[in-house]
Amino acid sequence: AKRRGKNQAVVFKINFLDIVSRRMQLEQALREALNEQELDIWYQPIIDARNGGIIGLEALSRWKLCSEFIPPDEFISIAETSGMITKLGQQVFDKVGAALQELRIDYPELQCNVNLSLRQFRDSDLTQDIIDCIDKYHLPPSALHLELTESLIADSETEILPTMQRLVEHGFKFHLDDFGTGYSSLERLKNLPFDTLKIDRSFVVPLGQDDHVMVKNIINIGNELGMNLIAEGVETEIEVHKLLQLGCHQIQGYYFARPMPLDTLKAWLADNNLP
Ligand code: C2E
Ligand code: CA
Ligand code: CA
Ligand code: CA
Repeated sequence: AKRRGKNQAVVFKINFLDIVSRRMQLEQALREALNEQELDIWYQPIIDARNGGIIGLEALSRWKLCSEFIPPDEFISIAETSGMITKLGQQVFDKVGAALQELRIDYPELQCNVNLSLRQFRDSDLTQDIIDCIDKYHLPPSALHLELTESLIADSETEILPTMQRLVEHGFKFHLDDFGTGYSSLERLKNLPFDTLKIDRSFVVPLGQDDHVMVKNIINIGNELGMNLIAEGVETEIEVHKLLQLGCHQIQGYYFARPMPLDTLKAWLADNNLP
């Protein structure tokens, strides 16, 4: 038993070093990728399941290092802790702005959601970055929707709220991402300027086992607060069917479309005769 314990400790140390060195290497590589503007944006459609129409897009960052895609959860976290998320976010705004300007020639109402991190509120003049983007690409504020996760709001509401309110005054809309995972009270939600709740995938999955309780409650909360609802991570026809029955028709997930590069999105929009 003693020997095994010792071996386990050694194994743990080696793995831990691997993790630290992977992170350090990725941080260096990410710095270079940002300098070279090598990150890409993929777009996932949000669909009105009642008629198959397109409601909007979510912009999701993609980073290919050599031939490997690094998972966004991993490189976004590295960008956040190493102070690079503001630069990453500015590149996201610029790419999304350019894409929207082009897409809106054929789809004049098309809008796109962008994910925001806490550090972007701290490190830069976020309001100015966002306004610069829509000015540069001649977009109305309604073309860009901003996503904040529920856990971020729960931890840092007072820090974020003034900037949020300023952006709302300019006409930008906020979506509460991963809703249901972050313990917001109804009272608190009522006082925050969110336009839409995004129902986390973890509440959509139980629909397949005929367990509706959580989604039903979340939809009730959304209706009570007068907010739009988008269900995320919807993969099956059963899930779509049950969400429609329960009163949620805005759907994002592999069932309708996966995130895709801009060129693929253009072909997808044309193939699906949208809008
Ligand atoms: P998120 O904002 O919750 O984005 C939704 C995630 O669900 C995406 O993962 C998307 O690819 C995935 N997804 C969509 N439909 C389905 C489905 O039907 N089934 C399943 N299993 N998954 C689905 P992705 O692209 O790996 O991004 C992970 C997270 O990284 C995002 O979660 C977001 O928090 C963060 N992220 C991505 N791009 C950015 C960015 O530009 N800025 C910031 N701050 N965060 C970003
Ligand atoms: Ca999101
Ligand atoms: Ca989400
Ligand atoms: Ca998430």
